[in-house]
Amino acid sequence: MGGMLNLNDHDRALLSGCAKCGACVPVCPVCRAEGREALAARGRMHLLAANDGQPSARFADILSRCLLCGACEQVCPRKLPITRLTAEARSRLPLLLGPASLQKAAACAVLARPALLDGLVRAGISLRRLLALPADSGLRLRLNLLEERTAPEQEGSPAQSGQTVNYFTGCFARHVQPSIAAATERLLRRCGLSARIPYEQGCCGLAAWSSGRLDLARELARRNIAAFAGTAGPVLVSCSSCAAHLLALPSLFTENDPQWRQAQALADRVQEFSVFFSEALPPADAACGLRVFYHDPCHLRALPEGMAAPRRLLQRTGCVVLEPEDGPLCCGQGGLFDLACPDSSAKIFARCVAQALAGKPDRIATACSGCLMQFQAGLKKKEAKAVHLAVLLEEALI
Ligand code: SF4
Ligand code: SF4
Repeated sequence: MGGMLNLNDHDRALLSGCAKCGACVPVCPVCRAEGREALAARGRMHLLAANDGQPSARFADILSRCLLCGACEQVCPRKLPITRLTAEARSRLPLLLGPASLQKAAACAVLARPALLDGLVRAGISLRRLLALPADSGLRLRLNLLEERTAPEQEGSPAQSGQTVNYFTGCFARHVQPSIAAATERLLRRCGLSARIPYEQGCCGLAAWSSGRLDLARELARRNIAAFAGTAGPVLVSCSSCAAHLLALPSLFTENDPQWRQAQALADRVQEFSVFFSEALPPADAACGLRVFYHDPCHLRALPEGMAAPRRLLQRTGCVVLEPEDGPLCCGQGGLFDLACPDSSAKIFARCVAQALAGKPDRIATACSGCLMQFQAGLKKKEAKAVHLAVLLEEALI
């Protein structure tokens, strides 16, 4: 064990295994935006290996300047678990050390309490009605993300007909934009399936994990394990980042912990939205003709089929699919990065949105709630509309 960060021998050995090759430098969105090599994984791994003392505010700041996007892990020849090491190092920092730590703690607390999140969404909708904000005000754009619920949430959403698929909605589709969950349910019906939405499910825990709140991430994992314990078959997840986090759920527990096995059992059942529907959706003869830019969420890029499946789906719609010229770019939202480092996040998003708009799309589609929020709050009204893939598929397949 060493210093306040309490790195164990295994992690210390991993850190010293960094080859300092620099392969992680050109792929790091933060490093690219800020022009500081020290902010890429190589610099952060070196800092972690060297730090044996009291973590300082500067140390916490450098640890915060990571999106946990995993681009570095995909090119690292030593296969270092950079995102895990970074998130665990964050967990060992004093609670309120680091940029926007209070906001991040508040965001995690709200996401962990569905009733509180619902109340805040309702309050935000009321505020939007009361305030006459200019169309391009940042607060107005954020409040515009909130959708009114058209029908009260049904406890358990029992199956209507056909085979039942368990559905993990994630916070965004359940509380903020229920049109995504509704579109997903209708797509399931097109496949001759119906959705079972266990009422007890909650936040996947990605925000807590990203903020170094590992105890909270484990508590949320237990809640979701329990919510799906009495069910069988695949668990459809309509947010790519929630899916990636649920697939990695066992890594929150040690292998001799009984919950590791339960986490593995849930992870084995997880099916990400585009992967699921690229197989389940019957062939369609649609010719919608919309110009669609598909934004690849960082968390999905690392999954097998993560880039191919959404494109297969879009091809069925008759959309004109616009590809990013210089490869997929991060949107700058991951790991609550937009809260911790708003200036860097804005720079990363500016490059990403310029790439997305270059081909003059009618729609920007994605399957990650975080990316969707970033686009919806960052796009001006007359530019393309940003939508979840479920909403686009519905529109295109009519
Ligand atoms: S996870 Fe992403 S932001 Fe963090 S160091 Fe790796 S490439 Fe950079
Ligand atoms: S790619 Fe991996 S091994 Fe190479 S410098 Fe980056 S973290 Fe170290």
